[in-house]
Amino acid sequence: MADFACKECHMILEESSCPRCPEAEISREWQGFVEILNPEKSSLAKEMGIKTPGRYALRVR
Ligand SMILES: [Zn+2]
Repeated sequence: MADFACKECHMILEESSCPRCPEAEISREWQGFVEILNPEKSSLAKEMGIKTPGRYALRVR
């Protein structure tokens, strides 16, 4: 499993920078994740503001 999560969009990353928010802070302290396959049909994705399919951390500290 990848180690990093973006504090801005919560995307789980394999490197220590987020391709979507290069300015955002990256954290190694995150818990749980969801795999969003179809953001348009997921209410959780809407709640979290997710528009791109992928894996997202539920909590990022
Ligand atoms: Zn990001």
